[in-house]
Amino acid sequence: MSIAVIGGGIAGAALAWRLRLLDPASDITLFVGHHSVRGDATGASGGMVRGFETDAESCVAATESLAELVASPVLRDWADYREVGSHYVLEPGDVDVAALASIVEAGLPGSLTWSAVEDLSEPCPLRGLPQGAVAVVERQGGYFSPHRLRTSITSELLRSRVVVSQEPVTGVRPDGTLQGVDRVHAGGFRAVVVAAGAWTPHLLLDRDPAADGFRTKAIQYVRCPVAPPGLGAFTDETSGLYGRPLADGGFLLGVPTQRWGVDPDGVGVDPSLIGTLLDVVAERLGLTLNPSGLEGFGSADCYHREPGLALRDLERASPVYTFTGGSGGAAKTVLAASRTAAARLLDRVATGHAGGSQAQR
Ligand SMILES: Cc1cc2nc3c(=O)[nH]c(=O)nc-3n(C[C@H](O)[C@H](O)[C@H](O)COP(=O)(O)OP(=O)(O)OC[C@H]3O[C@@H](n4cnc5c(N)ncnc54)[C@H](O)[C@@H]3O)c2cc1C
Repeated sequence: MSIAVIGGGIAGAALAWRLRLLDPASDITLFVGHHSVRGDATGASGGMVRGFETDAESCVAATESLAELVASPVLRDWADYREVGSHYVLEPGDVDVAALASIVEAGLPGSLTWSAVEDLSEPCPLRGLPQGAVAVVERQGGYFSPHRLRTSITSELLRSRVVVSQEPVTGVRPDGTLQGVDRVHAGGFRAVVVAAGAWTPHLLLDRDPAADGFRTKAIQYVRCPVAPPGLGAFTDETSGLYGRPLADGGFLLGVPTQRWGVDPDGVGVDPSLIGTLLDVVAERLGLTLNPSGLEGFGSADCYHREPGLALRDLERASPVYTFTGGSGGAAKTVLAASRTAAARLLDRVATGHAGGSQAQR
């Protein structure tokens, strides 16, 4: 069977790789576009990984992904994985931490501990946290390079006879016709998966992105030359601050943006958000940063009203699917999400795309 995957970010590359592993006989084409010259999410990603997530489905996917990563010397090398530990801080009572922690414990035994911040066995490097805030600490959390992982996977795809094409797909119709590619390919695929991140809504012709649940959003961070001592990867939901060490001794720091609906080809950096970031960094890390020493990065990701990287049907009986919607966090779930998506896609192709409109992670 012939399958087209559109998008050479980590989502598309991982999906094509899983398809090839599951069905060595299938004919797969990965359309990669021009990610080397566009600042895609995979190239900009902080790559922070942990098992803990605040909804059970994402927690399962993140835990399975991290368990696969830490257990595989090949993937650790492909992804340049750094096990620097992870702190995740949240308001008390927001979620059932015990239930979510048990998901992580099942997949990564002994990695996670959690408690009120004031009861941690080692002092939390973050300051000024609200009374009763809960810290989830993961020994096996850290970060990897999504860009290096997609590059490694793409090289592996070429070795395993997947066609990696730079033909510019300009649109996909619900009947599976591709616009912008040669006539042989245009209507010749049994299934088409649009995995083009923030470009996905634009590529789906004759569709209303809002009705499909997709929106783009900017994500930005700064690289600063100093690293706060004792801190690995961290996310502080009580202030929005997140960050992780950089291999060169510096630190990546960010706070969430509210820039929705951005054009992924022109995201840029919002300077006003850097002011907010400096205030939060002073409060939570006790650091006074000089803005002139900071380097800002911005990119966009594709968000979905039901967040999570998942294979989604476009419409009943259509051969077109999407594999996006990671909503700012797909690096940590991509290994599990791509395995689930590939199995489901092969099943759907085998049954003639029977089934309703739904997502499955
Ligand atoms: C700044 C930033 C920091 C992040 N940090 C983290 C983090 O710390 N941890 C975490 O878990 N997640 C993080 N994320 C989220 C995660 O990185 C993304 O969810 C993930 O990389 C999305 O991958 P993707 O393949 O779906 O999209 P992308 O990486 O954007 O890839 C889409 C690809 O499609 C290609 N494309 C577009 N149009 C076409 C076309 N017509 N034909 C062919 N190809 C096309 C693009 O060129 C691009 O290469 C971050 C995201 C951003 C933006």
